[in-house]
Amino acid sequence: MQNNHDLFQQAQQHIPGGVNSPVRAFKGVGGDPVFFREGKGAWLTDAEGKQYVDYIGSWGPMIVGHAHPEVLRAVTQAVQHGLGFGAPTEIETTMADLVCDLVPSMELVRMVSSGTEATMSAIRLARGYTGRDKIVKFEGCYHGHADSLLVKAGSGALTLGVPSSAGVPESLAKHTLTLRFNDLESVETCFKEAGDDIACIIVEPVAGNMNCIPPEPGFLEGLRKICDQYGTVLIFDEVMTGFRVALGGAQAHYGVTPDLTTFGKVIGGGLPVGAFGGKRKVMEHIAPLGPVYQAGTLSGNPIAMAAGLATLTQLQEPDFHSKLTQATETLVKGLQQAADDAGIAMTTNQVGGMFGLFFTEDKKVSFYEQVVASNQERFKQFFHAMLDRGVYLAPSAFEAGFVSAAHGDAEIEFTLSAAREAFQTL
Ligand code: PMP
Repeated sequence: MQNNHDLFQQAQQHIPGGVNSPVRAFKGVGGDPVFFREGKGAWLTDAEGKQYVDYIGSWGPMIVGHAHPEVLRAVTQAVQHGLGFGAPTEIETTMADLVCDLVPSMELVRMVSSGTEATMSAIRLARGYTGRDKIVKFEGCYHGHADSLLVKAGSGALTLGVPSSAGVPESLAKHTLTLRFNDLESVETCFKEAGDDIACIIVEPVAGNMNCIPPEPGFLEGLRKICDQYGTVLIFDEVMTGFRVALGGAQAHYGVTPDLTTFGKVIGGGLPVGAFGGKRKVMEHIAPLGPVYQAGTLSGNPIAMAAGLATLTQLQEPDFHSKLTQATETLVKGLQQAADDAGIAMTTNQVGGMFGLFFTEDKKVSFYEQVVASNQERFKQFFHAMLDRGVYLAPSAFEAGFVSAAHGDAEIEFTLSAAREAFQTL
């Protein structure tokens, strides 16, 4: 049996940093990343045979748990008919119909193969539709690694301390205006100066790439109002929140309707899928209907559609989201209690099946600066103490945690018991 350390050494021979996506390298917490060989329900098994309760869920997609029998069945059945055609298949229409049914703001939807592709395409569409170049995003929000969006970004970029990437031309980056999440005043001021040049606002309605920061009351509503006033396209990046914080996403949860929405993660059930869509009058600018070009060899791949549809089908079970929210709440309250009992200053945030932990004296965390100022050293210690005890948290203080429907009382109690011990070691 190979151990994680040797596997990581081998991986570094021919893979940059030994990983195919930076945050996996454990740079934010130190030590060797864990190599997994199996996932089932809420549990993962690593290359050494050790088991972990998983709170990453492949960074969000595994909302029904790993290797759900219905999802595996759908995929196994689909592969019997071939792996892809690069031509229309009926299952793409089924998927589009379902997405538009579950998320009423979606009138037309285009499937792509990742969240990055979805946001990149939505931005191009907003620019093409408005004839404007500038875009507004928020510090600490991550929308994938397209050039325009790697300015003051969150997630792995923030973990590695390079939120603005090398290789992004200044001539492009200058069109990205970065404002403060949950600070409507900064948005109003910006629009007074440049509103008529701004194609879109792109926002994570719950920021999940700088830990987990819910929108303050009125923030999303305020963005909607400003966009209406200036003819700017409002894009909700629901790659993380979509189908997770509610069946209809954050837009259903908060009752604010964007013009365009991007999806990823859950919509593919673990296979590479993303989507963008929204108002018909905007989406009709996409090729072949309109002049904004966007395409993909693997877009709408039937195996990926099968995994996504099987997952979305599970989510329509009555009470799916209320149970997921309840389980997440039990977990988060238990963690808070354990930290309080151990005299560790910690604050939590939660929206539906998403949560965040902050080692800080602040009683409420709503802003990027608070996240960055929280105690990273303590997070690292806690992360490793939990990992040792068989709990797999995101290896970065800047990522949200995810709970799945497979996290039952036993898994949550296992986690809380590990946390009670872990807090004693800090
Ligand atoms: N938007 C958000 C909100 C995300 O969380 C992510 C990925 N974590 C992306 C876009 C990019 O998605 P992908 O990694 O599938 O390209």
